[in-house]
Amino acid sequence: PDAITVQELANRMAEKGSDLVKALFKMGMPVTINQTIDQDTAELLVTEFGHNIQRVSESDVDIQVDTVEEAEDKLQPRPPVVTIMGHVDHGKTSLLDALRGTDVVRGEAGGITQHIGAYQVTLKDKSKITFLDTPGHEAFTEMRARGANVTDIVVLVVAANDGLMPQTIEAINHTKAAGVPMIVAINKVDLDSANPQRVRERLLEHEVVVEEMGGDVQNVEVSALKKMGLDALIEKIQLQAELLELRANPDREAEGTVIEAKLDKGRGPVATILVNRGTLKVGDVFVVGAESGKIRALVDDKGRQIKEAGPAMPVEILGLSGVPMAGDPLQVVENEARAREVAEYRAGVIQNKRTTNAPASLESMFSALK
Ligand code: GDP
Ligand code: MG
Repeated sequence: PDAITVQELANRMAEKGSDLVKALFKMGMPVTINQTIDQDTAELLVTEFGHNIQRVSESDVDIQVDTVEEAEDKLQPRPPVVTIMGHVDHGKTSLLDALRGTDVVRGEAGGITQHIGAYQVTLKDKSKITFLDTPGHEAFTEMRARGANVTDIVVLVVAANDGLMPQTIEAINHTKAAGVPMIVAINKVDLDSANPQRVRERLLEHEVVVEEMGGDVQNVEVSALKKMGLDALIEKIQLQAELLELRANPDREAEGTVIEAKLDKGRGPVATILVNRGTLKVGDVFVVGAESGKIRALVDDKGRQIKEAGPAMPVEILGLSGVPMAGDPLQVVENEARAREVAEYRAGVIQNKRTTNAPASLESMFSALK
């Protein structure tokens, strides 16, 4: 289209229609909000307003992740979300696999495990723990930089034979920067060359003071290979989780975070979402990053189709308009028009950031109207 109404343009720009009318008036074009303007004029306006598109995105049109405190009586305990970090080959994957084996529900599901980047185990006492498949330090930092603090607890895996290595130290620094409590899992204690005490000592150099050394950081000796120390590790996670008093309101529209996303050959765009609060349901309309959609199916980490997913539950979603990015926030919104509006608007903002010049987003504003 070559023309756009002032109101439409205002919507796309996330500006007040009246502000656009005022600006147009100053430019010598007295028009009303429902009148159309040509592309050149629109472009001028965008340039005029370009500088503050981003600022407005954080208030008016864009959806804010709701930081308002939930009413106390709405909050219910939720499972902890645990990320396993550590140096390559120190046993992160092995430990995740071993911990997965503690899931009492797993057997019922036929043991077919879906690789969805995150999983939840149900323990004998019916309590649950969510584990994020180690996202790599970059992803962890990136997610945090984007405000996605998805992890409650970090389990730092250190191989008892190898000791502290560069990525161990990196993980310590990331965890500290994130202000997330850490539990040290000293792995591979089945090896003759294992020296767990040396690990505890070396940790002191990085201001990680475990209980045996007079500090308050929990540590546990494990062997992912021999499945030793797993119960002790789980106990420590539960203890830490209790201290954190993790709670969320399950009775509200869902908010979540993308853990990973991809284009699946058969199923189209799919994303693994960690629900932060509320309950995500089949049929929900949502915005996620610059994408939108309607939940066509929810698939849990055991490959089962489920109807809904509550706080701290990782779930794969189908029904996306495109592939979002890891760390993108997901919000359920009232209707599809609203979802598209926000997603398109965000796509424009993202494009703005990429091209530095505001007018570039005009293309997307117009194409969004087609
Ligand atoms: P990641 O790179 O941290 O994910 O490490 P992996 O889980 O892939 O493990 C690296 C190697 O260490 C593999 O060969 C594992 O079999 C081995 N490994 C992991 N845990 C243990 C353990 O507890 N004891 C022994 N002896 N080997 C282990
Ligand atoms: Mg691995």
